[in-house]
This record gives sequence, C-alpha cells and structure tokens, in this order.
Amino acid sequence: MLDPDCIFCRIIRDEVPSFKVFEDERTLAFMDINPANPGHVLVIPKFHAADVFEIAEPWLGASIDTVQKVASAVWVTLNPDGVNIVQANGPGAAQSVSHFHWHVLPRRNGDGLLLNWGLKPGDMTEIGALAERIRSNV
Ligand code: AMP
Ligand code: ZN
Repeated sequence: MLDPDCIFCRIIRDEVPSFKVFEDERTLAFMDINPANPGHVLVIPKFHAADVFEIAEPWLGASIDTVQKVASAVWVTLNPDGVNIVQANGPGAAQSVSHFHWHVLPRRNGDGLLLNWGLKPGDMTEIGALAERIRSNV
C-alpha cells in the first residue's frame, strides 16, 4: 500500500524523478539527493510504513536483503574505507521522511561524519554518474 502524499511512495510510482540503482518486487534503492558522502544510497520497501515500529514482514526482510546487495555494490564501486547502515525513527533521531528507509553510507577515514549529518543538496550530475556506476555492480 502506498501513500499518495509521501515523497518516497511518489518515487516508487515514478511520479517524482530519482536515480535508481536497484529495484525488485518489494524494494527500491535510489541515490540520496542530499548525500552525506558521495555514493549515499537509500533503500525502501514498496509499502508505506512510517518507521521501524510500523514496518512488517515481508517488507522488513526484503529491505535488509536489498541493503546487503546495495552495500556490496557500493563497496565494489567506490572502494570506501567502510560503510555504515543507518536507519532513523522519529524527530529526535532526525528522521525527515516518514517512509521507512535504510541509509547505505560509504565512509572515508577522517570524513568526520556524525549521526544527524544535516541535509545539503548534492551535485545532480555527480549523483547521476555515481548511480550508473553503482547500478552496474548490483
Ligand atoms: P532521514 O532524514 O533519515 O529521514 O532520511 C531521509 C533522506 O531522504 C534524507 O537523507 C534526504 O536527503 C532524502 N531525500 C528526501 N527527498 C528525497 C528525494 N526526492 N530523492 C532522494 N532523496 C531524498
Ligand atoms: Zn511512503
């Protein structure tokens, strides 16, 4: 079930453009347009649920399977020093979109990235090019 007013549901429906890197029956992975680091990917279930408390099977399991696939592709593509898998619930955790999602965050030694990194628009050309490279490795 999708919510017509939810930005991520609208991305699932292709009503809003996105840089997709992987899609299957239950999940979608696409580039974050305010990347905390280059190669920042979001993974969502194709079902509207606000957070970890509302998401149910089979959507939760399907989404973490896709996280593993995408994290592996990010690893091969960008050769980072590490990858964080992050998931926020509620305003105190800086959740800004109320559709359950995982952040796949490539890390570089010394990047100084902390939780609640803030939203800063990325370069769309660069994000699109990275999407293509990651997509080819999923
Ligand atoms: P959170 O703040 O943990 O809820 O994560 C939501 C993420 O969605 C943020 O990192 C935003 O940059 C990202 N985001 C919001 N709108 C879009 C969009 N239209 N396309 C891609 N990423 C988005
Ligand atoms: Zn939604």
